[in-house]
Amino acid sequence: MAGIYVHIPFCEKKCAYCDFVSYSNRRDQVDGYLGLVEQEMAAAGELCKNEVFTSLFVGGGTPTYLDAAALSRLLTGIRRHFRLAEDSEVTVEANPGTVDRRKLAALRQGGVNRLSFGVQSADDALLAAIGRIHTWQEFVESYGMAREAGFENLSLDLMFGLPGQRVDGFLETLERAAALHPEHISAYSLKVEEGTPLFDWVQRGRAQLPDEDEERAMYHEGTAFLQSMGYAQYELSNYARRGFASRHNLLYWRREPYIGLGVAAHSFFGEERFFNPSDFEGYERAVRRQSWAWLRGERVEGREALFEAVMLGLRLNEGLDERAFEARYGTGFDVFGDAVEKGRKWGLLSFEPPVLRLTDRGRDLQNQALLPFLESLEEMDKKSLE
Ligand code: SF4
Repeated sequence: MAGIYVHIPFCEKKCAYCDFVSYSNRRDQVDGYLGLVEQEMAAAGELCKNEVFTSLFVGGGTPTYLDAAALSRLLTGIRRHFRLAEDSEVTVEANPGTVDRRKLAALRQGGVNRLSFGVQSADDALLAAIGRIHTWQEFVESYGMAREAGFENLSLDLMFGLPGQRVDGFLETLERAAALHPEHISAYSLKVEEGTPLFDWVQRGRAQLPDEDEERAMYHEGTAFLQSMGYAQYELSNYARRGFASRHNLLYWRREPYIGLGVAAHSFFGEERFFNPSDFEGYERAVRRQSWAWLRGERVEGREALFEAVMLGLRLNEGLDERAFEARYGTGFDVFGDAVEKGRKWGLLSFEPPVLRLTDRGRDLQNQALLPFLESLEEMDKKSLE
């Protein structure tokens, strides 16, 4: 299994909470950017010529900010340089307000079989307050057009913990979302990142966030509701109807290889992580100089790889299977000393051999659940230096 990620760093307008690498008002740079990504594709495609990719994810930013011709150009380029498995999952992120029938047709023609809509909320006042460019009704129209265009795998991205939001309000968003019968729903807790307008508003008291109890109640009640509607939770923030878990995102949590193209993208293969420059100009310089943009690689091995496997694997409801862990990393969970036992005692982990999982309480306190794993590895480091 291996995936491809392509980052499109353009948006119509910046949302108030957003710290992703995305730029507004740069339509004149789209063509040039696609040229750079094509150069990167040619170089990466040459390196990966024996690989058959099982998923492609075009994210952003707002990929549907591109017009139909640009979307076709991008998808054609990918297929020219990489081999995608016949049954590969091909996802494009779409934002309501930037979707029309021509673009949807271009996506279908380019082999896209999954759309992920950035919706965030069904409450128009909340959407306006966080700087989204669309209303709920506009999303519903885009969603209907996507179904008409033949998309049978649609996902909705929602957020909770928004300023002024209450549990009831979030549950209403989930009810309205579930009533549309999407195949997949993601629900993320808002993180207020420094440097964003929202951070500033919160600091000045212009925006009030729900307290932690309310935010956790949204998470747990939201999860229970989605499960009652047939959406099985398979990751901390992700829910799907049977057979519709995102294959691409599962790659990340299972530490499978992927290559990332575009500004700020990163890649993981050969147990090494590579990072593209996270600013447009740096990315452009790197591609012009050497055809690909990977500036630095970081080998993830030994204890770091073990910890990463636990940290990512525990996000999944399937948990971590000790036998599979041992087959891949050459050691069982005993390498972490008494970390598993501590987590069980604190009620944060459940271990039904061979499967280790977070408990419900552990989902709220992941960092605490992970701490003994980290400490045991640091302990080993100290001993090896003595
Ligand atoms: S649409 Fe997405 S990427 Fe673009 S500014 Fe809003 S949150 Fe950020």
